[in-house]
Amino acid sequence: MTNPLHTELPLNPHVVGLPPYNAGMNIAAARQRSGFEDIAALASNENPDGCSPKVAAALAGLNPARYSDPACTALRAALGEKLGLTTDRIVVGNGSEEMIAAVCRAVLRPGAVVATVCPGFGLHEIEALANGAVIEKVAMRANLDFDIPEILAVLERAPTIFFLSSPSNPVGPALDRDSLDRIVAAVRPETLLVLDEAYFEFTDDELPDGLAVLSTSPLSFVVLRTFSKAYGLAGLRVGYAVTSDARLARAMTAAKTPFNVNAAAQVAAVAALQDEAWMTASVTRLKAERMRVADAITAMGLTAARSQTNFLFLDVRRDSEAAMDHFLSGGIVVKPWKEKGFESFIRVTIGTPSDNDRFLDALRAFVMG
Ligand SMILES: *Cc1c(COP(=O)(O)O)cnc(C)c1O
Repeated sequence: MTNPLHTELPLNPHVVGLPPYNAGMNIAAARQRSGFEDIAALASNENPDGCSPKVAAALAGLNPARYSDPACTALRAALGEKLGLTTDRIVVGNGSEEMIAAVCRAVLRPGAVVATVCPGFGLHEIEALANGAVIEKVAMRANLDFDIPEILAVLERAPTIFFLSSPSNPVGPALDRDSLDRIVAAVRPETLLVLDEAYFEFTDDELPDGLAVLSTSPLSFVVLRTFSKAYGLAGLRVGYAVTSDARLARAMTAAKTPFNVNAAAQVAAVAALQDEAWMTASVTRLKAERMRVADAITAMGLTAARSQTNFLFLDVRRDSEAAMDHFLSGGIVVKPWKEKGFESFIRVTIGTPSDNDRFLDALRAFVMG
């Protein structure tokens, strides 16, 4: 109950007015709401295969009494070696989402323009708004591909940051080499390009490596990657930013909290990097499953956007919240899309083959119902 003597403290209006983050329903809540014990958790793009067994082995040696390394020295060294970079361009975050917040805090001033795409990843907008930015959005085309001419037009106006996830979350496609080259050529020197490659490990080999392409350009950029998706460490919270230059990395380091990455996350990420074979085998399985699920969706007369990720984005031609309730009544959690113009879309993660079959059976029933 509110204390009657209490006076209202003025709050930061940029923060108080933020839209909520559309987080996937967690398993405990889904159990309670559906009555099912066995939940098909297909809302958060987690890895149904778990993670490398080397991670559990490494965690067994952890001493929780000690503070974590604020500089993430061992992990940054491992990443520098993997990527062929000096570690002064790498900043590790409590999930790559923290690096989205850090880059906004490092670069934005109130009134700055931040551009992104719609549908897009909620935090690209939310963290920018929290720092007083004004958002401009470029819609994906009706065929659910990037609208390159419109993106180039926005870049001409020199926003302070342009956030783009490629592969796109929630839609799925990745930029091809020509599109990426055109974007790189259009970015003005005053714009920071933030390329969010959370699903990089799932992309087909012929598609460009954004970090490699940007590294040959004179642009200011940040490439974001994460251990949450392909490496299966979502619960431990660890992702990273690679910056165009050490100065930007120092500003992002100053913008984060000092002990942002806990000790378990650091140890686990190093162990995961030592077992890339586990990750690539899991990605291969998930991509094959994704194709099977996409084909089954097509056979129902629906279309899923083409995907270079571990999820599919599809138009169920009815209200996405109603679709979510339908799936939940069968113990299946999907993510209903809520952005304007896309309220009949859901995003579904590729899970285990049996969870995917449960989803497909429920989708068939929903389409016929
Ligand atoms: C999942 C995701 C992230 C956040 O990942 P964490 O490392 O778990 O914070 C960032 N960007 C996109 C596009 C994502 O899909």
